Amino acid sequence: MAQQITELIHHPYVPPQGFEAPQPGVYKASTVFFPTVAAMRSREWKDKSAYTYGLHGTPTTYALEERLCTLEGGLQCVLVPSGLAAVATVAMSVLKTGDELLIPDNVYGPNKAFAEGELKAWGITHRVYDPMDADDLDSKIGPATRLVWVEAAGSVTLEFPDLIALVRICKRRGVTVALDNTWGCGLAFKPFDLLPHDEPGLGVDISAHALTKYPSGGGDVLMGSVMTRDAGLHLRLKLTHMRLGLGVGANDAEAVLRALPSVALRYRAHDLTTRELAQWCQMQPEFAQVLHPALPESPGHAQWKRLCINGVGGAAGLLSVVFDAGFTQSKVDAFCDALKLFRLGYSWGGPISLVVPYDLASMRTDWPKHLAQGCVVRFAVGLEAFEDLREDLAQALQVLRSPALS
Ligand SMILES: *Cc1c(COP(=O)(O)O)cnc(C)c1O
Repeated sequence: MAQQITELIHHPYVPPQGFEAPQPGVYKASTVFFPTVAAMRSREWKDKSAYTYGLHGTPTTYALEERLCTLEGGLQCVLVPSGLAAVATVAMSVLKTGDELLIPDNVYGPNKAFAEGELKAWGITHRVYDPMDADDLDSKIGPATRLVWVEAAGSVTLEFPDLIALVRICKRRGVTVALDNTWGCGLAFKPFDLLPHDEPGLGVDISAHALTKYPSGGGDVLMGSVMTRDAGLHLRLKLTHMRLGLGVGANDAEAVLRALPSVALRYRAHDLTTRELAQWCQMQPEFAQVLHPALPESPGHAQWKRLCINGVGGAAGLLSVVFDAGFTQSKVDAFCDALKLFRLGYSWGGPISLVVPYDLASMRTDWPKHLAQGCVVRFAVGLEAFEDLREDLAQALQVLRSPALS
């Protein structure tokens, strides 16, 4: 008779075979057992044909990777602990000392900071291009350029670039093009198939995605993914990912797996409410400009329409406003403080609406010529009722109108 402590570990209970349920199981492991030394030597994790170590994949992470490939139309995927880790993994996998990176001026801020910090220190230079001017990208690609980031829509100011033109330039010049696909989520357009009817297969080389946002949908998980359709590129990404030790927790993977079946419905709900709010915002005199790609007046609307309406559809749940230049930062801050349903906080994609005032002048090379002068505020619209969110904005604007503030 074994000791109790041993019996607890080598427990005789075996669960019934054939258990099937809506959600995949949560498999947690660092160690994975091999039946023989031969199996230990021959098992291959790079193509998901077997399991070797928790960091290299479990049934839970393989299942999530495969479903994300379905969502975005990629063939291979790696999971990383955050969206920013996805961005960094792409750069570390593709670039080496002496190479140059091109990033759009409205790129996700920490992507630019990574280029200015670590990449610069490692002897990798970067240049910033105007995402609304394809010729500017073309003219900035040089002999050392190895990677171009694209983002649609751009961060905070939500300009929609001519993604098709930008990708074509990168293809013609033989430069790897990576998309930060967090906004589109694989639902607004297909990153690996931008023109499925006219030019099948025209698409980005890599899609990086902050699963923290719509795929998680709860504001409670940090995770990212890096996806490709190119086996060689995937192997490079996979090796970098493995050498950096970028594992994700099984419970977090399970949370995303659980939320994925509703991602399209949630995206649609965010989208519809955001469009209504954007139209309402356009009628408020305090806002000099409303930035939302589905508004005809918003920068890049025609490009959005071409890619997203004629494609899969969708405009996500983000909306920014430029306040009339007469409103000082402290007044705009008071407006943000007065909001009740819109909570002050970073990130997006969850049920609760969020608001952030941005100091745009510190984020852009020059004040973009297509933007009015004034304080910029970004709203991330949650899943609350449109009428309640509109009322919240209206009461906060009322605070701004009170003479006590002026
Ligand atoms: C949030 C975000 C990221 C980073 O995601 P984290 O999981 O917060 O690190 C990257 N790109 C874009 C466009 C984002 O909005």
